[in-house]
Amino acid sequence: VSAQRHSIKEPVVVIGGDAAGMSAAAKIRREQSERPIVVFERSPHTSYSACGIPYYVGGQVEHARDLIARSPETFRQKYHIDARVHHEVMHIDHKQQRVKVRNLEDGDEFWEPYGKLLVATGAVPKRPDVPGSDASGIFGVSTLASGLAVRRHLVQERPHTAVVVGGGYIGLEMAEALVRRGLHVALVERASEVMGTLDRDMGALVSAALRDTGVTLYLEETATGFETTEGRVSAVVTDRRTISADLVVLGLGVRPNTHLADEVDIARGESGALRVSDRLQTSVEGIWAAGDCAESWHLVSRRRVQVALGTVANKHGLVAGTNIAGGDAVFPGIVGTAVSKICQYEVARTGLGEEECRALGIDCAAATIESLTRAGYYPGAGAITVKLVGERGSGRLVGGQIVGIEGAAKRIDVVATALTAGMTVEALINLDLSYAPPFSPVWDPVQIAARRLAKAL
Ligand SMILES: Cc1cc2nc3c(=O)[nH]c(=O)nc-3n(C[C@H](O)[C@H](O)[C@H](O)COP(=O)(O)OP(=O)(O)OC[C@H]3O[C@@H](n4cnc5c(N)ncnc54)[C@H](O)[C@@H]3O)c2cc1C
Repeated sequence: VSAQRHSIKEPVVVIGGDAAGMSAAAKIRREQSERPIVVFERSPHTSYSACGIPYYVGGQVEHARDLIARSPETFRQKYHIDARVHHEVMHIDHKQQRVKVRNLEDGDEFWEPYGKLLVATGAVPKRPDVPGSDASGIFGVSTLASGLAVRRHLVQERPHTAVVVGGGYIGLEMAEALVRRGLHVALVERASEVMGTLDRDMGALVSAALRDTGVTLYLEETATGFETTEGRVSAVVTDRRTISADLVVLGLGVRPNTHLADEVDIARGESGALRVSDRLQTSVEGIWAAGDCAESWHLVSRRRVQVALGTVANKHGLVAGTNIAGGDAVFPGIVGTAVSKICQYEVARTGLGEEECRALGIDCAAATIESLTRAGYYPGAGAITVKLVGERGSGRLVGGQIVGIEGAAKRIDVVATALTAGMTVEALINLDLSYAPPFSPVWDPVQIAARRLAKAL
């Protein structure tokens, strides 16, 4: 009992006040009403939806405040969590169990003691290591503050041309947002199709959708530098051409933000993210990690991976928070499920693609089908392409990708559920899925693809 009392008084410090950090802090508060909890967040916001930034930049969401689930004031007043924005953690001193913090408003620095520490520092956009990459007008999008900066640039500088460097989903969502704002948008991507999380044949459908929207694609081209005028970006230079740009958005993906952990020698995995147990504990006693900065166990590839998604970050936060509060929760793993809307298409993926299977040495077969989102005669029926991948020999389903019009993408959740349950392709065919003409053909496109895949296997 006294140990328990002691742990209730032991302060928790959380570094990073967004999805993972605040989910954990809120969970700890729900479990332990007296526990001192301090959250340091270097940006001005807590619990914001980075996922909503493209829609704020594109104008579908008018006010940035609508992207904030809970403000620092709400955390302080309602949850009694000491959420301090504009505070950056500079060092972790684990021997003395304290962090060094800088107040970014007045430059004041101080040490804050902790009993338990949660590192929830997220990920940062990758920047190309080429001349001019620190020019103004080049934006990596990650925090709400970075989204505000893009929209401010649109209003104040009135750019006409934009180049997105990198064809990851964030870059594509931003490209669409900038088209909506009336800019001429080009996108430079080193690979032969955009959306590297899809197999190339499925990525080609997304490339086509972007072109239809008016985005000029420069595929199989690499950005080699940025031209600048008085410190501002004016063009993107690739290995083949120079593209004029009043605004550049980086869509090269993210890397885990782990530099603080290096001082404490917290183990990292092959992905570069922090290695954590299934209870989200790092290799250093008393330090936990959650969200984009931490690894997850991939249930299909059976490897540790970093998947930078809000879905994972929130669940990580819940598990870390439960355990820090003395409970016993386990994060079982992920299958890598993601969905986005790119122009008129919904795009979804889960598990492993054909190309990933090859790289991992998994003997697989794939089947791709084209079908309709609704019964053919029902108004609004439109194209959906489903690709499923299965393992030869075992017949195990290993992944799925979907590109289609409205109503297509959430079908990926059926595939994700089947993957999580370790189902075979035959078992997927036999699932008792729903049907009525406004929702699908009588055989759902996922099951049509499964039948085709069963033959291929
Ligand atoms: C444009 C965009 C669209 C997205 N769309 C989707 C989507 O549709 N679906 C989906 O699942 N995911 C999406 N994501 C990903 C999702 O937003 C992230 O996976 C999620 O926010 C990760 O949460 P996190 O708490 O781990 O990290 P973050 O949200 O990055 O939060 C980390 C916080 O830590 C702070 N921080 C870092 N270092 C310090 C320090 N030293 N001191 C103090 N504070 C620090 C940062 O300022 C940041 O606020 C999107 C991301 C972006 C950028």
